[in-house]
Amino acid sequence: MSKNEDTMILPNGVNKKDFLAAIKEFEKIVGKKWVFKSKEDVYLYRDAYSPYWDEPEEPIPSLAVAPKSTEEVQEIVKVANQYKIPIFPISTGKNLGYGSSAPNNRGDVVVDLKRMNKIIEVNDKRNYCILEPGVSYFDLYNYIEENNLNVMMDIPDPGWGSPVGNSLDHGWGYLHGQFRDHFGNHCGMEVVLPNGELMRTAMGALPGAKTFAENKYGYGPYVDGLFSQSNFGIVTKMGFWMMPKPEHYTLAAITVPRRDDLIPLVEILNYLEDSSIVGWPLYRSPLNPEYGKPMNPELKSYLTSKNGKPDIEKIQDYALRNEIPYWRIDVSLYGTKDAVAANINYMKERFSKAIKGSKVEVTEDYDLPLTEEQKKSLKHKVTLGIPNLEIFWLSTRGEELGPKDGHVWFSPIIPRDGKELLKCQEIYIDTFYELGMESMITPFSHPRTWMYRAFCFMIGFANSREDKEINEKMRKVYTTMVKVAAKHGWGDYRAAPPFQDIVSGVYNFNDNILKRFAEQLKDTIDPNGIIAPGRGGIWPKRLRGDKNA
Ligand SMILES: Cc1cc2nc3c(=O)[nH]c(=O)nc-3n(C[C@H](O)[C@H](O)[C@H](O)COP(=O)(O)OP(=O)(O)OC[C@H]3O[C@@H](n4cnc5c(N)ncnc54)[C@H](O)[C@@H]3O)c2cc1C
Repeated sequence: MSKNEDTMILPNGVNKKDFLAAIKEFEKIVGKKWVFKSKEDVYLYRDAYSPYWDEPEEPIPSLAVAPKSTEEVQEIVKVANQYKIPIFPISTGKNLGYGSSAPNNRGDVVVDLKRMNKIIEVNDKRNYCILEPGVSYFDLYNYIEENNLNVMMDIPDPGWGSPVGNSLDHGWGYLHGQFRDHFGNHCGMEVVLPNGELMRTAMGALPGAKTFAENKYGYGPYVDGLFSQSNFGIVTKMGFWMMPKPEHYTLAAITVPRRDDLIPLVEILNYLEDSSIVGWPLYRSPLNPEYGKPMNPELKSYLTSKNGKPDIEKIQDYALRNEIPYWRIDVSLYGTKDAVAANINYMKERFSKAIKGSKVEVTEDYDLPLTEEQKKSLKHKVTLGIPNLEIFWLSTRGEELGPKDGHVWFSPIIPRDGKELLKCQEIYIDTFYELGMESMITPFSHPRTWMYRAFCFMIGFANSREDKEINEKMRKVYTTMVKVAAKHGWGDYRAAPPFQDIVSGVYNFNDNILKRFAEQLKDTIDPNGIIAPGRGGIWPKRLRGDKNA
């Protein structure tokens, strides 16, 4: 017996003899070097931000298999069925903050699709692309630039992920609303089903279809949504709509002096966004210090000066006295130079009429294409589809904040409404207070605005690789927050595996009918329960146990 075999983690319910036999079959399918089983290799698939780091519950895979083709994926699925081995597909596996490349359960086999990295087509006349799962945002961008194509892809902050993986977990980006919804913006899918059969959806179901990535619906039921945040298949190809590169780009900053100005501000921005006058609005408050830097001590003292809770009047007074705008929104505008200039004038008129003391200032103004220097100095590269990794200054690199081992995102969706945001701040602050913890939310915490028609009021809960107590506390706060949010009608849009049961559990209208429906499907199309058990809170019958109790 080799050293690897001796220390091997086994998949749930699979004995060692069967697992070793299955490994031999996997090796026959993909070649020995693409079955990763040494501890050194397997540990690369741990969730780098795991809230269970080094605890028995940490979902470390037993091994990883990296196929090169759809046919190899089909063969892997057949072997998994034969031995009832749970397999967990990842595209580029960079889902940090939501589980990274680790599966839902300790011992599941990761099917790593990074070698399936063909850019099948990029069309800059009809503005779409068709990609395999291993194509990263960097790969696609480089291909577009090298071939001088006139389209851009909507991207998330970290450029090393993939359009396929990101969209299958409902990821979001930074251009105009319709493109920011990465799953909503996909068009056409090819999937290996749990029995190994290959299916194409929508127009793709028509052999020789000429609009795979252009017309979302073929004929009959639209099933694509079943393959996102779920475990009904392994996606091997997807089409996406792309945005033509604009002729001109302008970044404008809107500032307002008062906290309550948020209410009319959001209303106007909703109008501007939904009319496609502006792209992504980045909401912030200049009262927040630069990330990782300490907050002004006077301002900080007001966060707890009213019986342990924030004194909003003092905070407002501090902002006015120091001439610090309470809110600042950066918006990008795309189009021809004249059209963008006219829209800026329109915005100035609208805001000055509606909000006393508001200002609209142009902070960046470029004709495209940009020079390399301009690209480098661009404030928000993602708003022009330029992939990068600059966002990793956050959490792990801040000077002030600890621990520095990563974070888990808590991502509830709330209405795109100023009043609701202020209410949400209050509820979170109260919850932290009741838990006896320093509040991570302040009266100037801002919403995240990737969603096209809603806000996400997100918290990144820090976790530790050294201190298990921090992780235990973090898991408790996370769980409490999910429940508190649900009580107010706010639900998470996405969650890391350890929290998928609790998050999906609050979507329980009519005695959990949504979950029960998903389980019926699971039992029918994946009777052996081999694809990603537990993903999205959907468990196969044999592992369901009392999960819904
Ligand atoms: C600092 C920071 C900033 C971030 N900013 C953003 C952001 O702006 N926008 C955003 O959306 N996210 C963001 N994220 C989250 C995450 O990093 C990205 O969403 C990332 O793109 C996801 O990783 P991936 O693309 O490699 O997907 P993967 O990890 O490959 O896939 C995600 C999940 O989808 C499923 N899946 C993947 N491929 C398949 C397949 N072929 N078939 C079936 N199921 C599959 C798996 O369950 C997998 O776990 C951020 C994270 C951090 C830490």
